[in-house]
Amino acid sequence: MKFADLHLHTQFSDGTFTPEELVLHAQKHGLACIALTDHDTVEGCARAATACAAVKMEFIAGSELTAEHEDTEVHILGYFLDTQNPVLLEKIARFQSVRQNRIYEMCAALNQQGVPLKAETVFALANCKSPGRPHVARALVKEKLIANLDEAFEKYLKKGRPAWVPKTKMSALEGIELIHRAGGLAVMAHPGLNRTDDIIPDLVDAGLDGIECFHTKHSTVMSERYLEIAEKYDLLVTGGSDCHGFSKKAPLIGTVRLPYEHVERLYAAKKSADAKRRAAAAK
Ligand code: AMP
Ligand code: ZN
Ligand code: FE
Ligand code: FE
Repeated sequence: MKFADLHLHTQFSDGTFTPEELVLHAQKHGLACIALTDHDTVEGCARAATACAAVKMEFIAGSELTAEHEDTEVHILGYFLDTQNPVLLEKIARFQSVRQNRIYEMCAALNQQGVPLKAETVFALANCKSPGRPHVARALVKEKLIANLDEAFEKYLKKGRPAWVPKTKMSALEGIELIHRAGGLAVMAHPGLNRTDDIIPDLVDAGLDGIECFHTKHSTVMSERYLEIAEKYDLLVTGGSDCHGFSKKAPLIGTVRLPYEHVERLYAAKKSADAKRRAAAAK
């Protein structure tokens, strides 16, 4: 049996692994295929692709776009993205700058709480274009301003806490369209985590291609529920560990193993979407 992990993060967003380290871990767990899905960026994909090619592992270039629909945050995974697509790059650059500004705002809020964290410290630690709350939490720990990551979120960073700053997001419908324009397939990430079932029909109408049925935070019952939903709406099925490296506990890679038959269906869907695009362009 072959397996895949289609939800992984690296240092290009808030994971701790380099793309090369990630591929080594994937190899150790015997995965046949991985997708890199860093938040709002595709920067790590070229290196991950090279590292995968070197060990003959299949690689799918992806990203996890932070989006919203009717005031609900929803993450949209894009697979088979053309990482050079100018529209995609321009759009994600805008959301990366939103993320960078938000770091300044979070640090200002922390300073107001008497916590002397500098934005520059967070940027130096993050060293990527898509910084986020996990980097602020790590910087707080590193500067010994808090005991651990959990406490950083509990005390300051989670929604409603003093240093929580909302993030301007693209609309989910825009995200799906953007992924399609970049040649990708759009998949709703961890629906069980955000409890966003009621928006699924709208996303399907907007052209959603798949749904992440298997995820670290999905119970067996949840996964079964989303498999039924996938069947009902004729959606592709994906899954992944959402591994962020050594952030909290042991790396999650290897804990969610997507049966390869689903990857085959993704390839087939990509092929048929490309054929449709070509036919439309030839008209
Ligand atoms: P951001 O995109 O900057 O809002 O950060 C979201 C990321 O923070 C998520 O992908 C999680 O990895 C992490 N996160 C969110 N809430 C918590 C929490 N309570 N404890 C630890 N990590 C969290
Ligand atoms: Zn993350
Ligand atoms: Fe997510
Ligand atoms: Fe993720």
